[in-house]
Amino acid sequence: MTTFKETFTGSEDRARVLTEILRHGPAVAGTTLIALVDRTTQAVLAVRSMPAPVPILDDESYFDEDQILQLSRALCALADETAPVRTWNGNRWGEITGEFITVVCREGPARMSPIEALLFYGWRYSNHNTAALHGDVYAVTPHGWANLSPEYSGALPALPALPEMPELVERPDPASAAPEVLEAERVLADASLALLGPEPRECLLCYVHRMMMEFGCDGRLRFAAHYRDARAPRATALERRLGTAGGYCDCEIFLNGYELRQAYWVPEMGSQQEDLDDDDDPELTWPTPLPRCTGVRGGSTQPCRLWDRLYRW
Ligand SMILES: [Zn+2]
Ligand SMILES: [Zn+2]
Repeated sequence: MTTFKETFTGSEDRARVLTEILRHGPAVAGTTLIALVDRTTQAVLAVRSMPAPVPILDDESYFDEDQILQLSRALCALADETAPVRTWNGNRWGEITGEFITVVCREGPARMSPIEALLFYGWRYSNHNTAALHGDVYAVTPHGWANLSPEYSGALPALPALPEMPELVERPDPASAAPEVLEAERVLADASLALLGPEPRECLLCYVHRMMMEFGCDGRLRFAAHYRDARAPRATALERRLGTAGGYCDCEIFLNGYELRQAYWVPEMGSQQEDLDDDDDPELTWPTPLPRCTGVRGGSTQPCRLWDRLYRW
């Protein structure tokens, strides 16, 4: 009986092999490299490239099944061409000697996006019968690299950064940028936001609050609008309704419109000690993270039972 041995042990050997794969190239944003690596020596045996797929996501941020199927066929053909067929000697399969490493070269932050997830699913249903594993997917961007397993990532290797504009030169009007560049940026921005979509049954306010804690408010109803687009596309009056409650941007929803029910408030950190000396109640505040959303039905933009409407006017 043999126990399964991983091809790699940590971030260090992964970074070394990634560097080797990128050297074969072409390591340019928009290209996906698929390398066959020897499981014993970690030697890079072959590198193929294909254009990075642009994920098609539906309203609920699910992948398009036809797209996964097509990708699976392409990956199966690529695997058959690249790795030896797995042998069968009549009573047992031959050893798995190789591993396919998929490397998505792209712009953006070095964390997983729907592109990597799509490739993972593409491999999962590829049904190739070669003596190689698959399924390990990486992103490499100008900010470093990341793996589907969040414990593996690093600052190097990275793609070369786009040249910075000199300070004094006026930046070109975005409207004059090539349309396909804008389109690609829009798709990438949409896709990464889609991956960060609301959880099943999560209400508008719990979602907006959770995202804002991580990404901040950009002065718009960015996450509120994304929630609507993903969960309740017919709620076209959402912005107006939030505006009436004083919520003209994501953070104002909680400054002016709604607050966590008093029952969920907790004593402020560090305030207990001093408050022991006087008779005042301890200062109360919202817990971090908030309690779990109590849930709403699909298509609703109503808050869950964690929230109370503030009436200040
Ligand atoms: Zn704000
Ligand atoms: Zn909620």
